[in-house]
Amino acid sequence: MADSSEKPATHMRISINKVRTNIWKHVRRQAVHSLLVLLRNYLRGLALLIKRPRLAQELVAREQRIRELKSNLARERRKIRQLKKPERRQTPIGSVHYGDLRRLRPISQKFGFDRGKPIDRYYIENFLAHWSGDIRGRVLEIGDNSYTQRYGGSRVKVSDVLNIAEGNPQTTIVADLTRADHIPSDTFDCIILTQTLQLIYDLRSAVQTLYRILKPGGVLLATFPGITQTSCREYGEYYCWAFTQLSARRLFEETFPADSIGIEAHGNVLAVTAFVHGLAVEELRKEELDYHDPDYEFLITLRAVKPETALSQGRAIERLRRAILRPRSRSEGKALILLYHRVAELRSDPWSLAVSSDRFAEHLDVIRQYALPLGLQQLVQRLLDGELPDQSVVVTFDDGYADNLHIAKPLLERYDIPATVFLTTGYIGHERGFWWDELDQLLLQPGTLPESIYLKINESIYQQDLGEAAHYDEDAARRYRNWRGWQDAPTARHSMYISLWELLRPLAEGERRQVLDELLTWAGTESENRPTYRPLSLEEAVNLAQGELVEVGAHTVTHPFLSTLSVASQRSEILDSKANLEEILDRPVTSFSYPYGSRSAETVAIVRKARFACACSTRAELVRPSTPRFRLPRVHVADWDREEFTRRLSRWFSD
Ligand SMILES: [Zn+2]
Repeated sequence: MADSSEKPATHMRISINKVRTNIWKHVRRQAVHSLLVLLRNYLRGLALLIKRPRLAQELVAREQRIRELKSNLARERRKIRQLKKPERRQTPIGSVHYGDLRRLRPISQKFGFDRGKPIDRYYIENFLAHWSGDIRGRVLEIGDNSYTQRYGGSRVKVSDVLNIAEGNPQTTIVADLTRADHIPSDTFDCIILTQTLQLIYDLRSAVQTLYRILKPGGVLLATFPGITQTSCREYGEYYCWAFTQLSARRLFEETFPADSIGIEAHGNVLAVTAFVHGLAVEELRKEELDYHDPDYEFLITLRAVKPETALSQGRAIERLRRAILRPRSRSEGKALILLYHRVAELRSDPWSLAVSSDRFAEHLDVIRQYALPLGLQQLVQRLLDGELPDQSVVVTFDDGYADNLHIAKPLLERYDIPATVFLTTGYIGHERGFWWDELDQLLLQPGTLPESIYLKINESIYQQDLGEAAHYDEDAARRYRNWRGWQDAPTARHSMYISLWELLRPLAEGERRQVLDELLTWAGTESENRPTYRPLSLEEAVNLAQGELVEVGAHTVTHPFLSTLSVASQRSEILDSKANLEEILDRPVTSFSYPYGSRSAETVAIVRKARFACACSTRAELVRPSTPRFRLPRVHVADWDREEFTRRLSRWFSD
């Protein structure tokens, strides 16, 4: 048992040694491991330390790159701005480099044909490409039919070519446009007339022929030179004219209805210089060709449409004459009451209210020659007597603009034609003009407005972004001069004008003024009473009524939409305007006209009870023996020329 007691002691010692060795090994391993971890962390830290400056460097490099890109962008923007807005900077005298342009003869005398495409072709072809949809059906082109083919394609059914002389095998019609009676009327769906009219001395006859030979609804696409060389070698014998937008418009408006004509000028000083030197399109940049400077009318393009219902002038007069010669019977009498507003020339006229003084004189002349002018009260008396004279015409004016006295009245006197002028009494002698004119001044005249508007009108919110249309220059104002409120709005300003017009119209005068004041504040302007838009002063109203020729009638106090007002408000609008006028003029006022033609059964009853003898609406109809005198229809007259006015009068009376 003793042996057995010794054995364990030796065994234990060995075990302890083993344990010690193991612990030592373990401690060593641990130490090595810790050292390795320390080393790894140290290396990582070292790497980070090395990396950080590299990251910082990269950051700096990227920032530098962004700065470069930004400055490139700014440079590009500047370039674009410069292209859009040619430098106003003055070049000092004596330091202009003429280079190749210092010469007395042009670089080419062939309009650029010898160098590429002539500059004027650039605008002509863009114009034709834009309106290529019009080139269809039977198409007439002057000289040859290259544009008909290129832009009309398969839309063209018959292609005609007109030349003044025989010789060109393409020619299908030999004619001088000023004496082309052998070309039948109403023949062409489209006429392409590029750079031709300047070679024709008798422009008016040529335009009349073009109008006559177009089908109703047919389109004329024409281009004319503005600033140009005349090139005597080729055309010297014929070259008569150079045009401006204005002369082209006036010329064509003598024959085509003004609102059927679209006209534009193109080019700038560089395009003009290049063209007169005979350079080619290829020698200029697109941005340079496209830049439009309204002071340099290089090429003028015109699109005019013959009205669908066009009736030839000769036929119109013939019809009128026949109608006059026809024996009149009591039952047959027909009269026409014409509705004018203003005799003036305006830069914008969204409601077609103005007729120029020349045109107004022409209208009066036609009335004198072909109709029977009557005063409104005379007409009412004849109606009451059951003796309505046929072909009688009554002239009336609404609203009470000062031009009625200064421009219309002397012309009425010259032609000895009576008229009734309906005055909105609240505006007489008023500092501010009619509300629709203030809106026009705010939105349709050149200037810069804030880009967006947010307005509360009568509990509803009005919001609009003008975007690019915030800025509106002379050129744009000219371009849209003939825009009318019933046509599509060409810019955000025009759509804003229409929406505000619709929002303002039903408001009471006080509310409307408040909104207009807010609009003026928004625009940062004040209301200015433009002289041409002035209502009559008190003294002028008295002068207008003086003499036998002009009758003054009432047109309410504030020009409201009567049918939307309470009966009490309607009554005060109607009765007060009558009382005001009778006080100012010291004579009875017996004619009334409903603003905007708006009326209800109550309105008519109030007018009748107020001892008016008659009231005029805006319904476009003839007056017949059975027409009620408190609902007299009237025909709105626009700025029509003599021919158009004659045609319309003839059409009315032949109804
Ligand atoms: Zn009116």
